[in-house]
Amino acid sequence: MCGCVTNALGFCRGQRPPTLLATCRKSLTDRELEEQAHNITRGGNAAIAKTAPQSDSRGALLSRRRSGTPTVQFKVVAPLLNLAELDLPELEAALADRGHERFHARQLYRWIYKRGVTDFEKMTDLSKTLRARLATEFEVVTPKVVSDQRSVDGTRKFVLELADQRCIEAVFIPDTPAMTFCISTQVGCAMGCGFCLTGKMGLVRNLTAGEIAGQVRVLAAATGLLDHPFNIVLMGMGEPLHNYDGTMKALRMLHDENGLSVSPRRVTLSTVGIVPGLERLAHEPLMPNLAISLHATTDEQRSELVPPNRKYPLAEILETCRRFPLKRRSRITFEYVMLEGVNDTPEDARRLAKLLSGIKAKVNLIPLNPAPGIPYERPSDERVDRFAQILADRYLTVSVRKSRGQDIRAACGQLIVEGGVKKSAAQQMALLMR
Ligand code: SAH
Ligand code: SF4
Repeated sequence: MCGCVTNALGFCRGQRPPTLLATCRKSLTDRELEEQAHNITRGGNAAIAKTAPQSDSRGALLSRRRSGTPTVQFKVVAPLLNLAELDLPELEAALADRGHERFHARQLYRWIYKRGVTDFEKMTDLSKTLRARLATEFEVVTPKVVSDQRSVDGTRKFVLELADQRCIEAVFIPDTPAMTFCISTQVGCAMGCGFCLTGKMGLVRNLTAGEIAGQVRVLAAATGLLDHPFNIVLMGMGEPLHNYDGTMKALRMLHDENGLSVSPRRVTLSTVGIVPGLERLAHEPLMPNLAISLHATTDEQRSELVPPNRKYPLAEILETCRRFPLKRRSRITFEYVMLEGVNDTPEDARRLAKLLSGIKAKVNLIPLNPAPGIPYERPSDERVDRFAQILADRYLTVSVRKSRGQDIRAACGQLIVEGGVKKSAAQQMALLMR
């Protein structure tokens, strides 16, 4: 702490908000005062009111006692609790802790998730007094839309800014055949797959559960789907099993019947196959559909394309998949990004069919979405069809993913914001060329 504030004289209890009294030797600017209060409260959310010492009986007493020493009074407000991070039981507990009725939690959930309202003042089935108190105790932090681009095919890419100014991307894909939100679980990604722009960013940080669920709140409100069914694919930026707790808590929050009531059957989690994460997932009560990003049929090639394969090789992943508990009629999707001349030969297709034998599997072929800085090419439609036919001949269900939102760089693997801070197209290009 800077020496200007010579004494933090303690909190004046019994006042709301609590008041911190301190003395300083010289006059400080407002900014310096704010810094001091911030230091004294150890980074607490300090809203500061500087008042004349004489206007407060304790302040006046202090200035008399320390004749000649100006007394500065800070009002310190306890940090607001962010309700966006709480599941329903946590929200009930937070309300009870502050002397409110627990049942208000369900009302709050309905406002925040079902109706997209985060301003307590507008929650009209709560009393005015309660609304006013909630506003002094809580906040609902929501990702801010900084851009909303529309593709010719109806896909919309949202750049969302988080509380720390990091940015992420989330994509709305209509008619696939359902409405689908593709959302992010991390800012960037640590996995470093050679064909993916997000991988080029490296990992900036995990998203919190509130930020993951917040993307769905924002997209559902922006697309008018708060009251309609939609699918969620965890196929935006990041590796969901590398942020296991944040991801699963977000799914619990989104599942709550007082909120958006998203059934796990409508959620698909796509992963490179982090085996301990898969094993935890196998025991989840709310289990989403599983998609494994396979992309190669030999360890040598997969370790090259998907570096985590060095730790969790093909045999281990596939063995975990064989044991994975699946509901009747459900299957694991195996995603396979097709890179021309690399992993798209008939031999690759035959090896893939063999690897998947004994697994309730379906294969989703994804012809590469090329981008500057990605050292691979997209194969021709004929090559993709031939590959698909070989799999189908071996009784595998195969689909070819249609690329959506290419014109606005919203397609798989095209999501990138440097350091989580949105860059212009030219700046992104420079980054990719490094
Ligand atoms: N990290 C997870 C989920 C996000 S990536 C995962 O890798 O599974 C979602 C999907 O997009 C993955 O299957 C990934 O392999 C695919 N993808 C990444 N880059 C791509 C690109 N350039 N073209 C096509 N698909 C890509
Ligand atoms: Fe990460 Fe998935 Fe991209 Fe690989 S493909 S770098 S795991 S986001």
